[in-house]
Amino acid sequence: MSDATQYPLEPGPEQVRLMGEAVLAFVEDFLRDLPELPAFDPARSAALAGVLREPAPELGSPLSGLLSTLHAAARDGAASAGPGYLAYVPGGGLYAAALADFLTAAMNKYVTVWQLAPACAQIEATAVRWLCDLFGYPEEARGILTSGGSMANFSAIVTARVARLGESFLDGTVYVTDQTHASCAKAALLAGFPRAHVRAVPAGPDLGMAPDALARMIADDRQAGLRPFLVIGSAGTTNTGAIDPLAELAAVARKAGAWFHVDAAYGGPFQLTERGRARLRGIELADSITLDPHKALFLPYGTGALLVRDGALLRQAHHMDAAYLQDLGDEDDIPNFTEYSPELTRDFRGLRLWLPIKLHGLDAFRQALDEKLDLAELVHDTLRKNGFEVPWRPSLTAVAFRWVPGEGDADAFNAELLRRVTARGRALLSSTRIDGRYMIRVCVVSHRTHRDRVEELLDIVSETCAALQAEHPAGPQ
Ligand SMILES: *Cc1c(COP(=O)(O)O)cnc(C)c1O
Repeated sequence: MSDATQYPLEPGPEQVRLMGEAVLAFVEDFLRDLPELPAFDPARSAALAGVLREPAPELGSPLSGLLSTLHAAARDGAASAGPGYLAYVPGGGLYAAALADFLTAAMNKYVTVWQLAPACAQIEATAVRWLCDLFGYPEEARGILTSGGSMANFSAIVTARVARLGESFLDGTVYVTDQTHASCAKAALLAGFPRAHVRAVPAGPDLGMAPDALARMIADDRQAGLRPFLVIGSAGTTNTGAIDPLAELAAVARKAGAWFHVDAAYGGPFQLTERGRARLRGIELADSITLDPHKALFLPYGTGALLVRDGALLRQAHHMDAAYLQDLGDEDDIPNFTEYSPELTRDFRGLRLWLPIKLHGLDAFRQALDEKLDLAELVHDTLRKNGFEVPWRPSLTAVAFRWVPGEGDADAFNAELLRRVTARGRALLSSTRIDGRYMIRVCVVSHRTHRDRVEELLDIVSETCAALQAEHPAGPQ
């Protein structure tokens, strides 16, 4: 029997079950192993990747062998789904969302034109509405699920451009800070703006955009004949989780007639918690909000969201008539998502958000996020107590720190500290540069990261730092 007959393109019911069970067993194993996998294993990944460079096969091969390859692939590099992943902005990957993805692909419904799948399109619209509700957005608000925060920021900038500048827009200027995520400047460039028109407004000592400085820059630019049209606030920067003074920025933007976009890719879901809501005060004034449910809502990678207060403006920037879609009719109570987004055909992303929220309830997310806020406090307090420099109390769950050695190069010392902490395999942290200083970052987000792992990490950091100091009393050479 050839492999082609072993695996027909359309398997029968028995084979559907067997293949599904094999995959389920794989996932069960993976989730069981996950907490004990090395947080980062760069050496193994390169070797496996080499074997995977091969031409497409003419005939099929058994699923079991392919799953063995994936068994190794799932375990190399960073254990990004695991509890020790504390680098960049972690996610997690809820099991319920993985099931949703499986269902989505199996159903293969076409959700971006509502008439082809009214119930599924409504499920997605409902999930988007839940996100709008978090921020008190009005009925006429609309949103889209994107592949991530970068694409959400892109559509936000295009929407603001069309709404505020029209077709000739090269004199438009955008305001960010040096802490704003690079995807915002990238999106401005992709949307056609000159690089020099993305202005970095000075930030205060807390790393938040200074509203006075913003107002002055806007006035100067207007004087120079430019058109300030977009202020981008951050609700949780990637470096330190710093939250811009959103209400104040909203007021400056409104006075200037500018669009106010908030990049809440990291911080947005903390709005579910009491502390988060207090710290994000003013976000509800934004004209648009970027969220990344694949971060603090623990979904698998590939889920971002853009919410726009006046949904008609989102549509205005993205709608095109097409004769070949004429049978499908206009939107009704259910939106045609394609009219609000750069995309036409895509996966039914809404299920990945809807199923976990329906299954677990919002309170489960609230409690998990509250736990992360507590853990970040613990990181901050412990590192301080142990003599590290920790310049910013966490507004969310990212903590930047470094050791200041008595003598020698602090940057080199901390880079070596990070290397050795990573080598222990229990946690992956990352580094950044803030105000010219090399800083190590811990970011606690995953639903799988709990107090035990954070305490273990803090012990490892302190022990490793003490050992390094003992070796190089004057810092590494
Ligand atoms: C992660 C992040 C982004 C980019 O989102 P992607 O999903 O990686 O494309 C944008 N802004 C902030 C604040 C982020 O943390």
